[in-house]
Amino acid sequence: MSEIKVALITGANRGIGFQIAKTLAKSGFKLLLNDLNPNEESLAELKKLEVEHEFSYGDVSSPAYVEELFALCGEKYGRIDVVVNNAGITRDNLIIRMSEEEFDQVIAVNLKGVFNVMKEAAAKMLKQRSGRIISISSIVGLRGNPGQVNYSASKGAVIAMTKTLAKELASRGILVNAVAPGFIETEMTAVLPEKAITELKGQIPLKKLGSTQDIADIVDFLASDRAGYITGQIISVDGGMNI
Ligand code: NAD
Repeated sequence: MSEIKVALITGANRGIGFQIAKTLAKSGFKLLLNDLNPNEESLAELKKLEVEHEFSYGDVSSPAYVEELFALCGEKYGRIDVVVNNAGITRDNLIIRMSEEEFDQVIAVNLKGVFNVMKEAAAKMLKQRSGRIISISSIVGLRGNPGQVNYSASKGAVIAMTKTLAKELASRGILVNAVAPGFIETEMTAVLPEKAITELKGQIPLKKLGSTQDIADIVDFLASDRAGYITGQIISVDGGMNI
């Protein structure tokens, strides 16, 4: 990799994405961060940490916006080394109650958003003949979960796209991997009732939810020179749930 290392992270305002941003910054990456809207708390924290970054606000499900995002990256840094597909949403419901809108919204962000970003990333990285594309899938994409046909379909598709893209891009030195977190303490899981959390912990061999740092650490490794012989892999970080 070059001396200047640049990472683009989607959905980086809070939760897992924000932790990945701070962790990659510590590893020396300059950052281009995306989310839907500004989050003053995260902006203040980044300012205090003196992390070199720029935020771009927009919806990853829009191909036009994603094109703009990569153009901005080119203008600001002149290269892209690591892209992290982190933006994601849930709209949970049992299938008989799930609306077409709930299905379409999740597919638009979690699947088409990842496609949009992968496509732009591949175009830029092919020219450089180097790069890493890391997508945040989910244990739910591997094993399913009641109430999440939309979400599990999107996360399963991210796994399939990761394997395909790894094969498409390997000969050009571009490595493509995914992380499949189990249940991680963030605002996404904070909506689960206390009873559901207790039941969940009972199913996790390590008997606790994961932290955002647990996910950021594996992304940091996959983004590093130490992971140069790993591609097409789905790395479970789930306290043993996927054994
Ligand atoms: P979160 O809801 O705390 O953060 C997601 C961020 O993505 C938010 O800041 C949100 O504004 C942003 N976002 C949503 N839609 C967007 C869009 N269209 N364009 C740009 N940004 C958008 O979620 P989190 O828990 O930090 O999850 C991050 C990723 O990890 C998601 O892909 C999620 O599916 C995945 N994941 C989370 C868990 C978990 O337990 N928290 C488990 C497995 C996988």
